[in-house]
Amino acid sequence: MSKPMDNAVEIMRKGGTLISDKCPRCGGVQVKYKGRVLCIAEDNLSENLQATTVSNDATLSNLRNVVIEKIDIISTSLGKEHDVSKQAMLADLLQKYVTLLKECEDEDASDKSSDKS
Ligand SMILES: [Zn+2]
Repeated sequence: MSKPMDNAVEIMRKGGTLISDKCPRCGGVQVKYKGRVLCIAEDNLSENLQATTVSNDATLSNLRNVVIEKIDIISTSLGKEHDVSKQAMLADLLQKYVTLLKECEDEDASDKSSDKS
């Protein structure tokens, strides 16, 4: 049996943040995790941890694979492209994919620091 506090710590490690608003029902501490506000005392944190991390990780790694594949295809096309306006278009696309890829990786690193400013 894991204690609620252990789950709270786990949620923080996974990128959750403590919020200053107290729980409207019991006045307990709340955490924000993957866009949801959870009460440490009342909500089943371990359930939330499992349900959300598994699906998000899978989605993110799929997305990452797709993006990496696109970057590969686009950079190959860019290398062969002689038309400047098409190069600009490809470069723009490439930049968007690279940004997307970085965001996927930031999501992974968010358990180290949840505050990216
Ligand atoms: Zn509560």
